[in-house]
Amino acid sequence: MAAAEVRVTLPDGSEKRLPAGATGADLAQAIGPGLAKAAVAARVDGQVWDLARRLPDGVKVAILTDRDPQALDVLRHSSAHVLATAVRQLFPHAKIGFGPPIEDGFYYDFEVERPFGPEDLEAIEKQMVEVVEADYPFVREEVSRAEAKRRFKDDPLKLERIDDLGANEVISVYTDGPFVDLCRGPHVASTGRIKHFKLLHAAGAYWRGDERRQMLQRIYGTAWFTKEDLESYLRRLEEAKQRDHRLLGRQLDLFSIQEDVGPGLILWHPKGAMMQFQLRRFIEDVILERGYSLVYTPTLTREELFLRSGHLPLYAANQFPPMAAGEGESEAVRYRVKPMNCPMHILIYASQQRSYRDLPIRLAEIANVYRNERSGTLHGMLRVRGLTMDDAHLFLREDQIEQEIFQLLDIVELVLGKTFGLSYRLDLATRPDNKLGTDATWDQAERALEQALKHRGATYRVDQGGGAFYGPKIDIKFDDAIGREWQGATIQLDFEQPERFQLEYAGEDNRPHRPVMIHRAIYGTLERFCGFLIEHFAGAFPLWLAPEQVRVLPISDAQIPAARTVQQQLAAAGLRAHVDERNETLNYKVRDGETHKVPYMAVVGQREADAGTVAVRARGAGKKQVVLPVGEFVEKLREEVRTRALTSLV
Ligand SMILES: [Zn+2]
Ligand SMILES: [Zn+2]
Repeated sequence: MAAAEVRVTLPDGSEKRLPAGATGADLAQAIGPGLAKAAVAARVDGQVWDLARRLPDGVKVAILTDRDPQALDVLRHSSAHVLATAVRQLFPHAKIGFGPPIEDGFYYDFEVERPFGPEDLEAIEKQMVEVVEADYPFVREEVSRAEAKRRFKDDPLKLERIDDLGANEVISVYTDGPFVDLCRGPHVASTGRIKHFKLLHAAGAYWRGDERRQMLQRIYGTAWFTKEDLESYLRRLEEAKQRDHRLLGRQLDLFSIQEDVGPGLILWHPKGAMMQFQLRRFIEDVILERGYSLVYTPTLTREELFLRSGHLPLYAANQFPPMAAGEGESEAVRYRVKPMNCPMHILIYASQQRSYRDLPIRLAEIANVYRNERSGTLHGMLRVRGLTMDDAHLFLREDQIEQEIFQLLDIVELVLGKTFGLSYRLDLATRPDNKLGTDATWDQAERALEQALKHRGATYRVDQGGGAFYGPKIDIKFDDAIGREWQGATIQLDFEQPERFQLEYAGEDNRPHRPVMIHRAIYGTLERFCGFLIEHFAGAFPLWLAPEQVRVLPISDAQIPAARTVQQQLAAAGLRAHVDERNETLNYKVRDGETHKVPYMAVVGQREADAGTVAVRARGAGKKQVVLPVGEFVEKLREEVRTRALTSLV
């Protein structure tokens, strides 16, 4: 006999009795009409459910409103159904793939005859409005495998999905008006709940991310609970577009990626190379003052070395395939381009007897390494195949771990905090599933990092399972000017490699001991960090980094000699300046300098030429000009560069 009522526990621990068969929506109503109106879904024993599902007896239930992040996922996933509903109405032969929520939005994959164009998206979005206005309820049904196959007999992608489902999995289908989808749910109560959405763009995507399968058309969209949220997101998107490092990289002539060279391989043009040079010089100065030694190691190495380090076979998918041996070597010998520098730095350490007094030994190298990232994941400078790492390997005694972590955090603070003005967070990433070494070693390494962070008084988050395969690490993350999170520096502790390579030092007791290793990078890679800087500063770099620091503008040809003298004075002080001698109006030249985001323009008219002055326009200061003697101008700029100031000192 069925019970006449169910009892559920609310988040505050109180119990609620409801008539048997009551749903999440009924519960919300029983708590209050305000909640009933705001309710989006229910969290039942930790799982998010449709409001319309009946609540079993004895469960814990929380009603999710539009303030819960999980509710936003439900809204966005439901929006994907609305999108598919509209596409099916307009393109009845479209085959349907998946439609998950993603960060800030959703997508849905379709197999169609031709790619969707902008006018298609417009028509689809209009149709979506109709679907929303019709306010179709999302109706859930649980069906047998045979029934599911019958319903999706014309949808091969769905049939494939059904075949993948385990024998015991519940198969559910959802219907909203004319559209039926194979889906686990949950969804909002009805399509009318989705009010603030926009389709963004369409792009090709392989079915199930597999290059060997057919290309589908993926439509991306975004959805929010309020109009304000949607509008502010679209503004952020527009802002991000303006800052896109690929676009600015072209406009400012910083770098290119060319088909003839290959995907994910950056050509640094002179201006981009100047930025990289300044970044290298800065970090090398910083570490040379702190007891590091520079080393250089080859890009190519025998494969055997990476087998010994454990990078192979574990990391094989990310390495470029081996190549044949060099002339005069056995055919069995194979070479690889290096995906990382660790084993070579280890061999330098191991090249001689080390004593406890020598430690820590800090070997640094800004090196090019190559990783065979899947072409679909490559993205401008942010995801590349050729990486320039500001790498270092530190070899130390166990009792030195803490002081070394402190020194590294000092460097992070100097570079990211003080120099770039970033506020950053520390994440302690612990052992992943796919790892080398014993749990005992991992315990020891994780404890060591955690203790160092605690003694430092640093606040940090724990990223469970986020560690490298050879050790736990501290990841440093920061936000850019428009609030997006980036990952930069990383500090990885490693007890495993010293073991594999049998590294030793002679202790105070004259016996051999095993050193500990730290792998660390401050920028991470120069590619990614430059990509970040371009987007963060929107191309308007601080003076010390700006490839072109000053543009000298003679008002007419008569002042060209005086302008050249100014340029020479700047150059003699180590400043990067050039004279715009083109036969153009001053206005044109000023606009051009602004487009190229040159920090200073120094205008030389006859009055300035006679007086030995320049009329200075600082970037972003509009038409405001300051007239300065050339010597004073040079001194101010030198100071601005020396202090790596983030704002103008003129
Ligand atoms: Zn769904
Ligand atoms: Zn390393």
